[in-house]
Amino acid sequence: MSKLSYERPFIQKLNTGSMNKFGTKTEFAPVTHLDGIRVSKLIEDYGSPCFVISERQIRKNVQNANRAFKTRYPKIQFAWSYKTNYLSAVCNVFHQEGSWAEVVSIYEYKKALLNGVEGNKIIFNGPDKTEEDLALAVENNSLIHIDHFDELYSLVGLLDGTGKKARVAIRVNMDTGIYPMWDRFGFNYENGQAWNAIIKILSHKELELVGLHSHIGTFMLSTSAYATAAYKLCDLATNVKLKTGKPIQYLDLGGGFASTNTLKGSYLQGADIVPTIDDYAEVITSAILNSNFAQDELPTIILESGRALIDDAAWLIGSVVATKRLSDDRRATIMDFGVNLLFNAFWYDYKISPAQEFTHHTEDMVIYGPLCMNIDCIRESINLPLLNKGDQVVVHKVGAYNMTQWMQFIQMRPKIVMIDMEGKSHILRENESLDTMMELERMPEHLKNI
Ligand SMILES: *Cc1c(COP(=O)(O)O)cnc(C)c1O
Repeated sequence: MSKLSYERPFIQKLNTGSMNKFGTKTEFAPVTHLDGIRVSKLIEDYGSPCFVISERQIRKNVQNANRAFKTRYPKIQFAWSYKTNYLSAVCNVFHQEGSWAEVVSIYEYKKALLNGVEGNKIIFNGPDKTEEDLALAVENNSLIHIDHFDELYSLVGLLDGTGKKARVAIRVNMDTGIYPMWDRFGFNYENGQAWNAIIKILSHKELELVGLHSHIGTFMLSTSAYATAAYKLCDLATNVKLKTGKPIQYLDLGGGFASTNTLKGSYLQGADIVPTIDDYAEVITSAILNSNFAQDELPTIILESGRALIDDAAWLIGSVVATKRLSDDRRATIMDFGVNLLFNAFWYDYKISPAQEFTHHTEDMVIYGPLCMNIDCIRESINLPLLNKGDQVVVHKVGAYNMTQWMQFIQMRPKIVMIDMEGKSHILRENESLDTMMELERMPEHLKNI
């Protein structure tokens, strides 16, 4: 064995960041590749910033969710919540995996039709459906989830004398032990309003009551709330059966499952504390199997899970614009993306990784976006290696709601790219340009010359 060569001793300052009871946070391993493609190459090809979606991860998520429910219950149907991410290519991945469409506006409804979803596989939710919207949904035999009595009466008025029928459900809100209660949508269970809506529907032969729906909240950390919701829907369903002799075809438990993001102010990392899809599946299916349905009349369970199926399937990649010291000597890093692209940074502490190797010197810093707006802050305090102008970063788990709630303020929206199952990248949405923006503007004649 050869003699070990001499190494010069050296002293290095170690800055491990703040500790929690499990040790130090390890938020800053470099992430140089996304689904096999170099981040620097993606930025070179598509610009900075840019959203990158993983087709592989979406499929994995839907398949896992289907497995979790279908191994516990015989009749399961997922419906993709369009508002969570309604890029058509993203929706079509869900549809290829067997998901129906769950829409909350006529824009989303028409998008689902455009994507080729059959009318009878579109669930139309939401409080704002015009008579024209309802007529289109009736024409397409879609599932209309009635939100309030005004909608119910509109629908009855619309169908009166036409000989047409509508397949409907009601949205039910209820006390599930989670506060504040989401009681602004649908009909309340506890005060009898939901049952009142049901008997009104049963009295109209134009309306066929096929299901019952609830969507109790979002990022629900308590699985037991779903058991409560399921029991209350089962109670209504068994009463409908008693009254009419006909079983309810489906119970739609909505969405609301938590993704593995970390909520602001949370002591622990999201991935360590949120329930898994299996946890949610266990309580929901158990509650329904334990109810008084005849074995051959078990309703289909519909699920409209949004964020839990898409959050971890997308990244935002971007670059450092500048670094500076604040008046209190804290380090600030300014990125070329802000809350304009990451609306959910108001609720989540997004994980951010450098996209290249870096020094081991780290520091707590603030991450700002590029907007001239004081609230444009992505992370108030994060321990990261010292990033310099031009360095690239990856923001993780940004798939839910950012690409639908983004805003065009000062800047235009960037490209969205998907990496397919073979590791090839495709543009799903072009970046906006001055032309895109000017296309919608009109100039009155007298203001043309300045
Ligand atoms: C937004 C929404 C969903 C999806 O919610 P997540 O919290 O993203 O799972 C499902 N159903 C309805 C009615 C919704 O409004």
